[in-house]
Amino acid sequence: MLTINEINVFYGNIQALKGVSLEVNEGEIVTLIGANGAGKSTLLKTVSGLLKPKQGTIEFQGKTIAGKAAQTIVKAGISHVPEGRRVFSNMSVEENLDLGAYLRKDHKAVAEDKERIFKIFPILLERRKQLSGTLSGGEQQMLAMGRAIMARPKLLLLDEPSMGLAPLMVKTIFHTIEEIRKEGTTILLVEQNAHMALSIADRAYVIETGHVVLSGLAKDLQEAEQVKAAYLGGL
Ligand code: ATP
Repeated sequence: MLTINEINVFYGNIQALKGVSLEVNEGEIVTLIGANGAGKSTLLKTVSGLLKPKQGTIEFQGKTIAGKAAQTIVKAGISHVPEGRRVFSNMSVEENLDLGAYLRKDHKAVAEDKERIFKIFPILLERRKQLSGTLSGGEQQMLAMGRAIMARPKLLLLDEPSMGLAPLMVKTIFHTIEEIRKEGTTILLVEQNAHMALSIADRAYVIETGHVVLSGLAKDLQEAEQVKAAYLGGL
């Protein structure tokens, strides 16, 4: 579904991604793990069109997307939930969800999708009229994910959805990611919480200083000494 081939991405003179190749197949949860500054967010931003690779190719469902405008990439079926759950704090929960569907003309299906999101995240239904800025961190994460789903993506890019959340909320978020996949959305997940990410993913890539250093089935990486020592707290 998504094929990234040998991309190099720079911030000015700083090279953040060095010949990164990666594949996501339809229906998978693929996770990208790595330390702070390894290049994980840069990779998601490059897929969603916020950054452009200097070299290399990115194909989504057989079409080139590298270098295309972010809006074109959303239309092609990719939604990005950036780090730090940016919701529009002065707008209500429902208005934030509506914004997620702004490119869609199928109003009936949009209304159905909103109901579906309220089923996945019942707390958002309870708070639908509330200003988003007054939600807890976990609720804002749910809203950011809900807003991305409103675009009916085929591929959802999630950047650190568990960051800064209490353990119970982390569990809820990961459970929801599995639910979203069951409903047919493919997921590329960036996480610092390697333990949780590997437990729900099919496959994983380990990224260090801009390089993919290891990849494979998530269950195999959970057992890999290199991963255990560096990312699973020696478990
Ligand atoms: P984190 O979890 O901290 O976001 P990450 O793996 O997502 O880590 P990136 O944010 O992709 O890492 O950063 C990769 C590298 O690019 C880092 O060395 C970082 O300092 C650098 N970088 C990121 N954003 C910029 C920017 N706007 N300008 C210059 N350098 C940047």
